[in-house]
Amino acid sequence: MDLKLTNKLALVTGSTSGIGRSIAKTLHDEGARVIVNGRSQKSVDAGIEKLGGGERLIGVPADVGTAEGCQALIEAAEKVGPIEILVNNAGIFEPKPFEEITDEDWLRFYEINVLSGVRLSRAVCGGMKQRNWGRIVFISSESAINIPVEMIQYGMTKTAQLAVSRGLAKAMKSTGVTVNSVLPGPTWSEGVEQFIEDLAGDGDVEDTKKAFFQEARPSSLIQRFASTEEVAALVAYICSEFAAATTGAALRCDGGLVDTCV
Ligand code: NAD
Repeated sequence: MDLKLTNKLALVTGSTSGIGRSIAKTLHDEGARVIVNGRSQKSVDAGIEKLGGGERLIGVPADVGTAEGCQALIEAAEKVGPIEILVNNAGIFEPKPFEEITDEDWLRFYEINVLSGVRLSRAVCGGMKQRNWGRIVFISSESAINIPVEMIQYGMTKTAQLAVSRGLAKAMKSTGVTVNSVLPGPTWSEGVEQFIEDLAGDGDVEDTKKAFFQEARPSSLIQRFASTEEVAALVAYICSEFAAATTGAALRCDGGLVDTCV
């Protein structure tokens, strides 16, 4: 299926590894020009190398967890052209007991996971509206609905993304701009690999992966981690011409983990 993304300009934040890199790869394979973003030049260069290089991959290092970083990213990206697809993917997660989550932790999570997407969407949505075409996608999580007790600060940010995404979709009413969120379930990214290794400690990583589904995510219907490619496939479809009638939606890619019919 040709997703009709040839030459569209996409910005994918946090695309030097994990889910973001797979989204960048899928969009690139579909013919899009993709701005690859990470915090440092080194990580951006390494990310582009892993993606196989090519003139349609443009690296822009910037920390999207700050206002200056978002501004620098937009300025550099718009030198390439108007941004037609924005995927707000960059995000952090870290297990911590509620009593130990400090004000600084709450604010850091909010700034990196929520405000980054707010700032970048605010910068691009006007142009998209004028051109009457655009795609904005927030990579939220099943944790937006199933708040994880081991990282409540993370769950808060993922729920907030749903509110921003739904509200912005309404603000884009009657235009060719769609705004959606995607809710992955546990997905085998570099970040999650580290998370499981930390959880395993001196124990066996494979046993820890199995125990994670049996104990922490028993309602998962696939009882395994999704691959980053599986999440990227849904995101690429949402960014395509074919998804023009899907907006304001929270789309699950959670392995059936959230136990509701809709
Ligand atoms: P990851 O840690 O493997 O990759 C995240 C990427 O974002 C990295 O390249 C990192 O360098 C980048 N990044 C982080 N902070 C940044 C910043 N301030 N500026 C620029 N880049 C930054 O993570 P992942 O598992 O691929 O997660 C990607 C997104 O998917 C996150 O928003 C996460 O919340 C969400 N998600 C992940 C899972 C999962 O199980 N992996 C499940 C649901 C949702």
